[in-house]
Amino acid sequence: MENEKKFYKKLESKGVSRRDFMKFCTVLTATMGFSSAYVSKIAEVFAAPKLRPPVIWLHFGECTGCSEGFLRSMYPFVDELVLEILSVEYHETIMAAAGVQAEEQLHDAVKKHKGKFICVVEGSIPTKFDGGYGKIAGRSFLEIAEKTIPKALATIGIGSCAAFGGLPAAKPNPGGYMGVGQALKLKNIVNIPGCPPNPINFVGTIVNFLLLGKLPTLDTQGRPLFAYDKTIHDQCPRRSHFENEEFVEVFGSEEAAQGYCLYKVGCRGPETYNNCPVAKFNDGTSWPVEAGHPCIGCSEPDFWDKMSPFYEEF
Ligand code: SF4
Ligand code: SF4
Repeated sequence: MENEKKFYKKLESKGVSRRDFMKFCTVLTATMGFSSAYVSKIAEVFAAPKLRPPVIWLHFGECTGCSEGFLRSMYPFVDELVLEILSVEYHETIMAAAGVQAEEQLHDAVKKHKGKFICVVEGSIPTKFDGGYGKIAGRSFLEIAEKTIPKALATIGIGSCAAFGGLPAAKPNPGGYMGVGQALKLKNIVNIPGCPPNPINFVGTIVNFLLLGKLPTLDTQGRPLFAYDKTIHDQCPRRSHFENEEFVEVFGSEEAAQGYCLYKVGCRGPETYNNCPVAKFNDGTSWPVEAGHPCIGCSEPDFWDKMSPFYEEF
């Protein structure tokens, strides 16, 4: 109770009202597919956390856009809230340590929290030439992953690179880049693809773990069903235009202004599983198709090769 009071006081000091926070918890509960009865329980996960699992966040072949997306575009201060319910032991983008000290921090964290930490992996892993296409402190990404991930309690691959290889794995892929699950032959990795993924799907996965003590149910690609069980097309507000064969054929046209379907300018919504139309981005402001841009299928395996050339009808 005391901790909860402190929590809400801290929120207020940052200009976030209890009402705003509950609104966020309501959105999160709905995204996770839970009934409204869970809203207060989910609020408690943040306000009075029972445990703060250690997290080791590894970066491999990627652009850090997933970390940036998570840290910069959430509902106000939710990035901070999540960092408070987790004990982030290692994260190259946000930690103060560098060089030798950073390496020591990684080794010490893996040793200290063996079997208890959540390993979040951002980026894909080069597998050819002994992993020679990517190294940190003289160790290949492959070696770092092999030495770290098997010691984790759970592994989350954040972003399409970690999940399926992403851009580094696009043809001709000389380094043999692969998604983390494929490179290490993992059966139980949670994949949260997207380029970048929606931060709310990552938060939902973590909150599911803290609330129920287990990771969410996954599809055959390792993606949480709560976020990836439907296609973009099946949730799209432009769907009636598709059914009526009302298509945008040229950007900037009258049809585009009318909000017609983007299929003929390359929308891959029918082939893409993700919750963008309901979760949206930037505090629920909008999402690509709402802004007039076709879905490019960023959360599907091999999307750079399979979904391109972009802007052309399949
Ligand atoms: S804009 Fe894309 S996702 Fe929406 S209805 Fe058209 S094809 Fe489907
Ligand atoms: S609309 Fe499509 S391309 Fe855009 S973020 Fe969602 S899944 Fe990725």
